[in-house]
Amino acid sequence: MKINTMDKRKILIVGSGIAGPALAIKLIEQGAQVKIIEARSEAEMNEGLFFGISPNGLNILSGLIDISRLYDEYVPGTLRFYNAKGQRIAELDAAYQKEAYGVSSIQVKRSAISNLLHEKLISLGVQIEYNCKLMSIEYSGAKIDVETSKGKLTDYDLLIGADGIHSRCRRLVFPDAPKPVYTKMLSTGAIVKIPGWEEKSDAIEMTFGREAFFGYSTTNTGKVWWFNNYDWEKEPNGTELNLQQQNIKKDLLELHQKDQPKISQIIAASSNLFAYPIYDMPALEKWHTATVCLIGDAAHAISPHTGQGASLALEDSAVLAKCLATYPDPELAFSRFQQLRSGRVAKVIAQARKIGRAKSKPNPVANFFRDIMLKYFINMEKKKMHWVYSYDASKEVV
Ligand SMILES: Cc1cc2nc3c(=O)[nH]c(=O)nc-3n(C[C@H](O)[C@H](O)[C@H](O)COP(=O)(O)OP(=O)(O)OC[C@H]3O[C@@H](n4cnc5c(N)ncnc54)[C@H](O)[C@@H]3O)c2cc1C
Repeated sequence: MKINTMDKRKILIVGSGIAGPALAIKLIEQGAQVKIIEARSEAEMNEGLFFGISPNGLNILSGLIDISRLYDEYVPGTLRFYNAKGQRIAELDAAYQKEAYGVSSIQVKRSAISNLLHEKLISLGVQIEYNCKLMSIEYSGAKIDVETSKGKLTDYDLLIGADGIHSRCRRLVFPDAPKPVYTKMLSTGAIVKIPGWEEKSDAIEMTFGREAFFGYSTTNTGKVWWFNNYDWEKEPNGTELNLQQQNIKKDLLELHQKDQPKISQIIAASSNLFAYPIYDMPALEKWHTATVCLIGDAAHAISPHTGQGASLALEDSAVLAKCLATYPDPELAFSRFQQLRSGRVAKVIAQARKIGRAKSKPNPVANFFRDIMLKYFINMEKKKMHWVYSYDASKEVV
C-alpha cells in the first residue's frame, strides 16, 4: 500500500470519546497536525459505566496503547444466561476467542479506554482542549474556521466530527439528516462495592427476569457492575434522570422482586445509578463533504445491545486514517471510507436491533422455547459473530 505523507495538513477533531482520540493518534503518526476539542471537562470524561469491547476493537486498540492496562479492572466476556427461576439456560464462553482472534472480549469502563488514549496523545505532544464545544462552522476559501465555546479556531484543512450520537457537527453539515430516534428505553446501571460479595469474576450473568432483563458481573477487583433495560416513555434530559434516580431504583426493585434475590440485593446496594437513553439512529446517506467527515457514533450510532459501539468507532478510526494516508484528495478518502464502512456497520446494527428485541418484555410462550433452545442457538453465535470479531483493518484494501 502506498502511504502519502500528510505533512502540514491541519486537522481539527471534534470529540474526545473513543473515535476522536484513536483517529488523532494515527493521524499524528502519519504526520498530520492535529487538534482535539472536547465539550466535557476533564473530570466529566470519567462519566459513563462500562461496555463490551470485542476482539475486532481490542486488536485495533492494541496498536494504539498498551492494552494490558485494561486488565487492571475488567470482566471477562463470557456470557451466562438464566431464566426467571434462576436456572442457567445457556453459556457462551469467550475463551475460544483468544485462540481464534488473539484476544477475548472483555467489559471495561468507558473511561479506562478514553483515559489511556488521552495519555497516549499527551505523550505525542497533543493537549486535548476540554470544555471546548463546537458551535458553528465557517468556510473561508479552502480553509475551515470554527466557532467554539472558547473562541474561534481558524485555518484548518479538514474537520472530523467524532462528537457522538447527538453530533453537532452532523447537524451543522447535514441539517436535513435524520435525527436519532429515542427508543423509549433507558439503559440503567451502576458500579457498586457490596460488603461480603464473594462471586468469582468469570462471566457476565444475564437474567431474563419475570418483568425485565438484568445483567451483572463481578470485576477482578471485586466490584459489581450491573445494567438493566428500563422502559421510559418520554425522552429524558440529563437533569431529569438525575432527579429521578431514587424513583428508578424503587421501580427496578419492584420489577425484579420476584426474580432471584441477588438481583434485588445488587440494586438495593447501589447509590449512584447511571441512566443512558437508548436511541436508534437512522442510516445517513452521506457521512462527509469535501472537507468534513463524521466517524463513530456521529456517523452511525448503535444501541448498546451488542457491545459493538466502541469497537466500531475504533475500526472507523483505523480505516479513515488509512484512507487519508492513501488518497491525497480528502474527498476521495472520505468517500472511500464511507464505501468501506457503511455495509459492515449496517449489518452490525441490524444484529444489535435483533438482540435488543430479545431483551425486551418477556412473553411466556416465547420464554418456554427460549429456555429450551437458547443453548443450541448460542453455539451458532460463535459462527454468527466470526465476521464481526475477525475484522482486520490492516487488511482492508483502501
Ligand atoms: C459520557 C458518556 C458516557 C457513555 N457511557 C456509555 C456506557 O456506559 N455504555 C455504553 O455502551 N456506551 C456509553 N457511551 C457511548 C460510547 O462511548 C460510544 O457508543 C462509543 O464509544 C463510540 O464512541 P464515539 O467516540 O463515536 O462517541 P462518544 O464516546 O460518545 O464520544 C463523543 C465525544 O464528543 C464530545 N462532544 C459532543 N458534542 C460535542 C461538541 N459540540 N463539541 C465538542 N465535543 C463534543 C462528547 O462529550 C464525547 O466525549 C457513553 C458516551 C458518553 C459521551
